[in-house]
Amino acid sequence: MSTTDPDCLFCKIASGEVPAEIVRDGGRVLAFRDINPQAPTHVLVIPREHHPDAVAAAGAGTGLVDEVVREAHSIAEDEGVASTGYRLVFNTGSGAGQTVFHLHCHLLGGRGMEWPPG
Ligand code: AMP
Ligand code: ZN
Repeated sequence: MSTTDPDCLFCKIASGEVPAEIVRDGGRVLAFRDINPQAPTHVLVIPREHHPDAVAAAGAGTGLVDEVVREAHSIAEDEGVASTGYRLVFNTGSGAGQTVFHLHCHLLGGRGMEWPPG
C-alpha cells in the first residue's frame, strides 16, 4: 500500500494542507512538533505514505519503520536528548491511546520518564 487518505490529518500535514512546525522534511519521512507536547522534546516522525499503524507499515516490507526510527534517533541527537535517553512510542490501536491512524513515532525526551507508563 502506498497511498494517501484524503480524510487523514497526518496525510494533510505531509502534503502541506494542514500547517505544522516541521522539524525534518526528508524523502520518505517527515517530522513535526506535537501540538500538545508531553515533554520538552515531543516530535512526531511519520512516513509520507499512509499506513494506519507501525505494524501495517512493517508488513509492507519496504524498510519504512527502520527509516522512521533512524530519523527519530537523528532528531534526538539534534535536540540534545540522545545521550540522556529518550522514549520512542508507537501507540497501536485505540485501547493503547492511538487517536491518529497514520503511523507516527512519538519521540519524547528532555525530562525523566516513569515506567510503567500510564
Ligand atoms: P496518538 O494518540 O498516538 O495517535 O498521537 C497523536 C498525536 O498527534 C497526539 O499526541 C496529538 O497531540 C498530536 N496531534 C494531533 N493533531 C496535531 C496537529 N495538528 N499537529 C501536531 N500534532 C498533532
Ligand atoms: Zn495518512
